[in-house]
Amino acid sequence: MKIKKLNSHTYCLFCGTGPRNNERLDGHHVQYFPEPLIMFVHPDCHDQIHARKRYAGLEPIKQWIWYKKGDCEKYYALKKKQYKDPNYIHTRVALNKKLANPVLTYGNHNSFRRNN
Ligand SMILES: [Zn+2]
Ligand SMILES: [Zn+2]
Repeated sequence: MKIKKLNSHTYCLFCGTGPRNNERLDGHHVQYFPEPLIMFVHPDCHDQIHARKRYAGLEPIKQWIWYKKGDCEKYYALKKKQYKDPNYIHTRVALNKKLANPVLTYGNHNSFRRNN
């Protein structure tokens, strides 16, 4: 599954500014189906979108949440299956070897990390 990105990880699409104090931007899933679509946002802006932490009690920001309830679980169940597929693992290893630069991969719904 190829993930489409709405913006680059050099700025936050929610508030329009760049990363502060070396923090990494989160990848927020705007939708999971028919194709995964993510946007990069500050962790704080991410909390605001989902109405978490200090935004708890507010409404989640629907403009940036296009997926239906249950899509997230469905998506990660599919991914788990895909990761166990020998063909997929083979392609991935080959791809990682080919790329001299670290590639961005997603660890979970909330954070992006560099994969060496
Ligand atoms: Zn932001
Ligand atoms: Zn999110």
